[in-house]
Amino acid sequence: MRDELQKSLRDRYPLIFRSALPPRDPCGPAPDPFPVWGFECGDGWFDLLDALALNLQHATTSAGAPQVVAVQVKEKFGVLRFYADGADDRQRAMIELAETMTGRICEVCGNRGELVSKNGWMMTHCAAHSAGSDESPRRVEMLASCGGLLLADIGVSETERSVGNKLSRGSFSFAFYLQCMRALGRTDFRVDLTDVT
Ligand SMILES: [Zn+2]
Repeated sequence: MRDELQKSLRDRYPLIFRSALPPRDPCGPAPDPFPVWGFECGDGWFDLLDALALNLQHATTSAGAPQVVAVQVKEKFGVLRFYADGADDRQRAMIELAETMTGRICEVCGNRGELVSKNGWMMTHCAAHSAGSDESPRRVEMLASCGGLLLADIGVSETERSVGNKLSRGSFSFAFYLQCMRALGRTDFRVDLTDVT
């Protein structure tokens, strides 16, 4: 999900979507995924997440329900997975409904979609995005995950999401390209400038 959409949700529902990392304790448990990775899904589910958070927070502030805190928000097998702490039965039902609805909403654009299998990956896309994309979102996700780990090996700090954004966008800086080459084991680099005008 684009950074500005992520920021909008975090700004409006800061108690559900925490931005700050918990205090680092080397001996403590690993931090929750959400503060680290944010919304690991496409822009098309923004409105649904907005409506879900609105209702979850309203139940807390107006009806005394517990405070829900997002632990992980991601796409899995083509639909939303919204893992959270603190939800009561009513709030859990809201979350389950939202998760089910994402199987009918295009993850890319928010138009009506359907759950389809493409190249072995499950995804919810509208007709246009199901037919038009030449780079599977799941393939990008897999490449981003591997790329992030390889870059970390050479001391380059890039989140899985930032690598995924670069791959989806199809453009990145020359410096990032060099870092990728180094991460893949290249120790030298030649550029043929013969045809440069
Ligand atoms: Zn679409």
